[in-house]
Amino acid sequence: MRKKIVAGNWKMNTLPAEGVELAKAVAARRHETDSSVELIVCPPFTHLSEVVKATRGKGVAVGAQNCAAEEKGAYTGEVSAAMLAALGVEYVILGHSERREYYGETSATLNRKLAMAYTNNLIPIYCVGEKLEEREAGRHFDIVGAQLREVVYNLTPEQFTSLVVAYEPVWAIGTGKTATSEQAEEMHAHIRRTLAEKFGAAADATPILYGGSCKPSNAQELFAKPDVDGGLIGGAALEADSFIRIGQSF
Ligand code: 13P
Repeated sequence: MRKKIVAGNWKMNTLPAEGVELAKAVAARRHETDSSVELIVCPPFTHLSEVVKATRGKGVAVGAQNCAAEEKGAYTGEVSAAMLAALGVEYVILGHSERREYYGETSATLNRKLAMAYTNNLIPIYCVGEKLEEREAGRHFDIVGAQLREVVYNLTPEQFTSLVVAYEPVWAIGTGKTATSEQAEEMHAHIRRTLAEKFGAAADATPILYGGSCKPSNAQELFAKPDVDGGLIGGAALEADSFIRIGQSF
């Protein structure tokens, strides 16, 4: 059985005190979701320390939204994977389309970031996804395939066993336009096949999350698909109630 995961990517939202309240509200209702579902909250860097304290021992894991590509040194404004791990952070989102688009993250950068995550025992949630024009041109499978081959194929088999992948079609992020469950399944199956070409049967155990306007009203249909193992949730993760309801959607 693959791990089921619902992860909340809070992006650049909430002030620290609000974030701690949100994390506490999620932790307080954690028992309403099945214990086999891993719940992860990914607040901004400034909240991580307090959010780790607020959720410790309560069955809610904490992730960061990014980490530096370098180990340490003169990189003003960067936060290293070691710093995150030292706080008790367990996961790190890498390669989100907003990072690729607004901050110029390339496969070369992401190879280094994943390496830093693994060195520090953080579990990467590696994001892939095509833009609208790429889908309209029929290139979505190629684009996502390349995002996997250029980065994930460089992992060792051992590193690969802990990887989480998130498929987030860029046209579905924050737009209210969800991929249909058929579109999601078709891409998730393609992702798993691409991973299996390199890593064989180990790809059967890789959690592949769907992200992009996932909410309580559509999560159940998406999560019912065989290769959809949960969600990476943006807007709907900013409310404990909707986040928990998504966590109940398996
Ligand atoms: P929304 O759920 O707000 O569309 O965001 C998805 C996302 O980008 C999660 O990483």
